[in-house]
Amino acid sequence: MNLIGEHTDYNGGFVLPLAVDRVSAFAGRTREDQTVRLWSTHFKAYAQFSLEGLPETFDEQRANLPGWARYVLGVAAELTRSDIALKGFDAVVSGDVPLGGGMSSSAALEIASAEAYALFSDHAFSIGEKDATLTPIETAGLCQRAEQIASGLMCGILDQAASCLGQPRKAVLLDCRSLDYRYLPFEDPDVSVVVIDTGVRRELATSAYNERRQQCEEATQRLRDLIVQVEPENEQARSIKELRDVSPEQFERFKAQLPAVLQKRAGYVIAENERVLQVVKLLEEGKIEEAGKILWIGHAGLRDEYEVSCNELDALVDIAHEVPGVLGARMMGGGFGGCTINLVRNEAVDALRQAVEQQYPERAGREASIDICRAAAGPGHVVL
Ligand code: ADP
Repeated sequence: MNLIGEHTDYNGGFVLPLAVDRVSAFAGRTREDQTVRLWSTHFKAYAQFSLEGLPETFDEQRANLPGWARYVLGVAAELTRSDIALKGFDAVVSGDVPLGGGMSSSAALEIASAEAYALFSDHAFSIGEKDATLTPIETAGLCQRAEQIASGLMCGILDQAASCLGQPRKAVLLDCRSLDYRYLPFEDPDVSVVVIDTGVRRELATSAYNERRQQCEEATQRLRDLIVQVEPENEQARSIKELRDVSPEQFERFKAQLPAVLQKRAGYVIAENERVLQVVKLLEEGKIEEAGKILWIGHAGLRDEYEVSCNELDALVDIAHEVPGVLGARMMGGGFGGCTINLVRNEAVDALRQAVEQQYPERAGREASIDICRAAAGPGHVVL
């Protein structure tokens, strides 16, 4: 899950994810044919598809599958597009990542699928840092494309990279343009990462996400044109391709000429990128408390400028704000529901739980669920 850097990935910017101790898992055995048969413990349902003819048969097969199995099919389609020969398998699909809550359960499912294909196809390919067919970041890119074709969400690489690159007690700073990454210490024995689920999921999320993405592209083009008009010799301005390339100073100078909506969207993204770098600096200095403060500001941007929050998320963040010992909180993921991430002093976790239990039902008309996470390692497998 992402500590900070929300909606920056598809703008070529920075993100700062953590891997947590929640998993998506396959258990099964290889088949001798090209059939994949799955049982989802979550949905209590079977699904079956064929690897034959992929990726050409993808669209037709996708139409006949439940949503959850489309991700597994999508990964197979992208692997075969990379000329990797796969074998069928029978498997149970399980896991404990809250679904659709902004904690990247679909990315975890895709990465687990890629690991499953590697294992069940008698190691027709491998995933790893050295001498492997696919590096972790290539696997993340492949799974990102799988998610796009499976769900229609034009997601960035954040979620898949977070699933692939996670390491215990580390946050990962990922440059979503160059795909360079480096690890930062994320360990303070006195601080917990608390995830609170609003209990709300909204269909609107996919269309709003794709709309934000398109607005960012439009703001980028307009800003580039505006700057180049005034500074025709400015090479840097001519090469602006994504909001990542627009400096905060350039944005300040030219923002008034953007339509109001684009001003808000671009303003949020450019500031959020800066916030990631501020948090990185604070983590390097061991100032996790200061880093927390930036989470509150990030949430305000998501609520007021990017406009992807909702009453339930705002209620959880407001409630957390009033609890002494909560260092920072913000909504996570696409928005319009899902979970908040909270950095909390250990001794304040109970007070936060009580405040949410008392106040959230009144404000949201429903219960929220609270989960305490630990930073954990990325993918792996066990052969019995
Ligand atoms: P997020 O990735 O933020 O959790 P998404 O809406 O992108 O939210 O993905 C959620 C979907 O991913 C679920 O509705 C389901 O189709 C699928 N999914 C994720 N994990 C699993 C799992 N362990 N078993 C079955 N389906 C899963």
